[in-house]
Amino acid sequence: MDLWIKRDDLTGFAMGGNKGRKIELILGDLLDQGAKKVVTCGAAESNFVRQLAVGCQMAGIEFHAVVMDRPFEPGFEVPGAPPKGSANQKIASLAGAHFHRMENGPWETLFEAATVLAREIGAFEVPIGGSTPLGAMAFFHAAEEVPGFDVILHASSSGSTQMGLHVAFSGSATHVLGISCDPEEALVEDHTELGRGLCRLLGRDESLAEGIDLRFDWVGPGYGVPSDAGQAATRWLLSKEGIVLDPIYSGKAFAALLDLARQGEFEGKRVLFWHTGGTPAFFNV
Ligand SMILES: *Cc1c(COP(=O)(O)O)cnc(C)c1O
Repeated sequence: MDLWIKRDDLTGFAMGGNKGRKIELILGDLLDQGAKKVVTCGAAESNFVRQLAVGCQMAGIEFHAVVMDRPFEPGFEVPGAPPKGSANQKIASLAGAHFHRMENGPWETLFEAATVLAREIGAFEVPIGGSTPLGAMAFFHAAEEVPGFDVILHASSSGSTQMGLHVAFSGSATHVLGISCDPEEALVEDHTELGRGLCRLLGRDESLAEGIDLRFDWVGPGYGVPSDAGQAATRWLLSKEGIVLDPIYSGKAFAALLDLARQGEFEGKRVLFWHTGGTPAFFNV
């Protein structure tokens, strides 16, 4: 196999990551609408919260984040200690973020609290991970940067990275393979719905959003918790190429890439690993 790496870990908004592309479009839209205040939500160590906090500060917008250390989907709670370290929160706080902390609970509770806060303070609400049709559009356009691959493999969570790429390459020879960092398989339907929204925004046929390949075999102990395979993959890539992965997303996706390569799935293929960033979280483990 011929392996290439797309370095979205080396982009902007304070230590890079895949959220930067979405934020460029989302922030532009917020500024067009005259937004003075923004609310989003996520895990406390969210890369999106970090990058949006920095983007809002650069744009002169007051930024609020409603966070839980470890939000969960009911039935998929992860027992044990909270995440170590707070590198993303440190950057966001330096960028003036107002954190609103909650006890761990279901994702739904977190989403509702963000909506309530946005209403209370008269802020624009940005959905988790920037996964709106506009956020997905950023990855639809990013597809133009990487023609000619047989496979594009990346970490997937809130879905706009995968749906932008999937819609862009739908019907082509390029297969987009998302490695889920969340355990709940119901996400396939949520992501497909997001993809339909992108198709509507683009004026394309909604069927382009169907048929995503999202695999759940490398989540490890749960969302937000490092896995042994991910940590081993991180050591491997660091020692071979001097590239740092993160324990929550890109390390797990690269573990999948190594496993699938060993199983011969990529034989003779030109494969792109889309490095989605998360660098600060490397220092949390
Ligand atoms: C958010 C994130 C992802 C997942 O991207 P989505 O567009 O939310 O699916 C992958 N890797 C890193 C480092 C992230 O921060």
